Amino acid sequence: MKLTGSCFCRAIVYEINLKSPDDATTSLCHCGNCKKAYGTNYGLTTEVPRDAFTYTQGKPKEHAADNGSGIVVTREFCDTCGSLIIEYGEHAKSHWRYVTVGTLDDPDALPPKKENFVKHRASWMPRVSDTVQNTEQ
Ligand SMILES: [Zn+2]
Ligand SMILES: [Zn+2]
Repeated sequence: MKLTGSCFCRAIVYEINLKSPDDATTSLCHCGNCKKAYGTNYGLTTEVPRDAFTYTQGKPKEHAADNGSGIVVTREFCDTCGSLIIEYGEHAKSHWRYVTVGTLDDPDALPPKKENFVKHRASWMPRVSDTVQNTEQ
Protein backbone atom coordinates (compact mmCIF):
# COMPACT_ATOMS: atom_id res chain seq x y z
CA MET A 1 0.00 0.00 0.00
CA LYS A 2 1.48 3.29 -1.13
CA LEU A 3 0.17 6.60 0.15
CA THR A 4 1.26 10.04 -0.95
CA GLY A 5 0.96 13.42 0.70
CA SER A 6 2.21 16.97 0.70
CA CYS A 7 2.12 20.28 2.50
CA PHE A 8 -0.38 22.95 1.49
CA CYS A 9 1.95 24.63 -1.02
CA ARG A 10 3.29 21.30 -2.33
CA ALA A 11 6.93 22.30 -1.84
CA ILE A 12 7.20 19.18 0.33
CA VAL A 13 5.96 15.87 -0.99
CA TYR A 14 6.24 12.48 0.70
CA GLU A 15 5.21 8.89 0.36
CA ILE A 16 4.39 6.12 2.78
CA ASN A 17 4.93 2.50 1.81
CA LEU A 18 3.13 -0.05 3.98
CA LYS A 19 2.87 -3.81 3.69
CA SER A 20 -0.74 -3.49 4.86
CA PRO A 21 -3.05 -0.83 6.33
CA ASP A 22 -2.60 -2.64 9.67
CA ASP A 23 0.95 -1.23 9.80
CA ALA A 24 -0.50 2.25 10.36
CA THR A 25 -2.29 3.35 13.52
CA THR A 26 -4.26 6.55 13.24
CA SER A 27 -5.03 8.35 16.50
CA LEU A 28 -6.70 11.51 17.64
CA CYS A 29 -4.79 13.22 20.41
CA HIS A 30 -6.53 15.68 22.69
CA CYS A 31 -3.45 16.75 24.68
CA GLY A 32 -2.62 20.41 25.20
CA ASN A 33 0.55 20.24 23.09
CA CYS A 34 -1.37 18.91 20.09
CA LYS A 35 -3.94 21.68 20.46
CA LYS A 36 -1.12 24.24 20.25
CA ALA A 37 0.80 22.52 17.46
CA TYR A 38 -2.25 21.92 15.26
CA GLY A 39 -4.11 25.11 16.09
CA THR A 40 -7.29 23.05 16.54
CA ASN A 41 -8.87 21.11 19.39
CA TYR A 42 -7.06 17.83 18.64
CA GLY A 43 -4.16 16.41 16.67
CA LEU A 44 -4.66 13.66 14.11
CA THR A 45 -1.70 11.54 13.08
CA THR A 46 -1.02 8.09 11.77
CA GLU A 47 1.84 6.11 13.27
CA VAL A 48 3.95 4.35 10.64
CA PRO A 49 7.34 2.60 10.81
CA ARG A 50 10.15 5.15 10.34
CA ASP A 51 11.46 3.43 7.23
CA ALA A 52 7.99 3.47 5.62
CA PHE A 53 8.03 7.29 5.42
CA THR A 54 10.14 9.10 2.80
CA TYR A 55 10.29 12.67 1.59
CA THR A 56 10.30 12.63 -2.21
CA GLN A 57 10.52 16.40 -2.67
CA GLY A 58 11.61 19.32 -0.50
CA LYS A 59 13.17 19.53 2.92
CA PRO A 60 11.19 20.36 6.07
CA LYS A 61 12.17 22.65 8.89
CA GLU A 62 12.53 20.92 12.26
CA HIS A 63 11.44 22.18 15.64
CA ALA A 64 12.16 20.21 18.82
CA ALA A 65 10.90 21.23 22.26
CA ASP A 66 9.10 19.85 25.30
CA ASN A 67 6.77 22.79 25.97
CA GLY A 68 7.09 22.07 29.68
CA SER A 69 5.79 18.50 29.41
CA GLY A 70 9.22 16.90 29.87
CA ILE A 71 8.87 14.98 26.60
CA VAL A 72 10.78 16.48 23.69
CA VAL A 73 8.78 16.23 20.49
CA THR A 74 10.28 17.01 17.10
CA ARG A 75 7.94 18.43 14.51
CA GLU A 76 8.81 18.77 10.84
CA PHE A 77 6.90 21.33 8.82
CA CYS A 78 7.05 23.32 5.61
CA ASP A 79 8.80 26.60 6.27
CA THR A 80 7.10 28.16 3.27
CA CYS A 81 3.42 27.45 4.03
CA GLY A 82 3.58 26.17 7.61
CA SER A 83 1.89 22.78 7.17
CA LEU A 84 2.91 20.32 9.87
CA ILE A 85 4.01 17.08 8.21
CA ILE A 86 5.30 14.70 10.86
CA GLU A 87 6.13 14.55 14.56
CA TYR A 88 7.92 12.12 16.84
CA GLY A 89 8.96 12.03 20.48
CA GLU A 90 12.48 11.16 21.64
CA HIS A 91 11.45 7.58 22.55
CA ALA A 92 9.87 7.02 19.12
CA LYS A 93 12.52 8.76 17.05
CA SER A 94 14.37 5.68 15.81
CA HIS A 95 11.25 3.57 15.19
CA TRP A 96 8.16 5.59 14.29
CA ARG A 97 6.92 8.61 12.40
CA TYR A 98 3.58 10.25 13.19
CA VAL A 99 2.26 11.66 9.95
CA THR A 100 -0.43 14.35 10.01
CA VAL A 101 -3.45 12.73 8.38
CA GLY A 102 -4.65 15.95 6.79
CA THR A 103 -1.52 16.16 4.63
CA LEU A 104 -2.28 12.79 3.00
CA ASP A 105 -3.61 13.16 -0.53
CA ASP A 106 -6.36 10.78 0.61
CA PRO A 107 -6.96 11.67 4.27
CA ASP A 108 -9.75 9.09 4.42
CA ALA A 109 -7.39 6.20 3.68
CA LEU A 110 -6.49 5.44 7.30
CA PRO A 111 -9.44 5.93 9.70
CA PRO A 112 -8.69 6.42 13.42
CA LYS A 113 -8.29 3.45 15.76
CA LYS A 114 -7.56 5.33 19.01
CA GLU A 115 -8.24 8.51 20.91
CA ASN A 116 -5.57 9.65 23.36
CA PHE A 117 -5.79 12.03 26.33
CA VAL A 118 -9.58 11.78 26.15
CA LYS A 119 -9.99 13.66 29.42
CA HIS A 120 -8.78 16.74 27.55
CA ARG A 121 -11.28 16.30 24.70
CA ALA A 122 -13.16 19.52 23.93
CA SER A 123 -16.46 19.56 25.86
CA TRP A 124 -18.52 19.94 22.67
CA MET A 125 -16.83 17.09 20.78
CA PRO A 126 -18.35 13.57 20.81
CA ARG A 127 -16.14 10.50 21.02
CA VAL A 128 -15.28 8.87 17.73
CA SER A 129 -17.12 5.54 17.47
CA ASP A 130 -15.17 2.29 17.15
CA THR A 131 -11.98 3.72 18.64
CA VAL A 132 -10.04 2.68 21.73
CA GLN A 133 -10.47 5.37 24.38
CA ASN A 134 -7.08 5.90 25.98
CA THR A 135 -7.46 7.59 29.35
CA GLU A 136 -3.81 7.13 30.41
CA GLN A 137 -2.44 9.34 27.71
ZN1 LIG B 1 4.44 24.07 1.95
ZN1 LIG C 1 -1.04 15.12 21.73
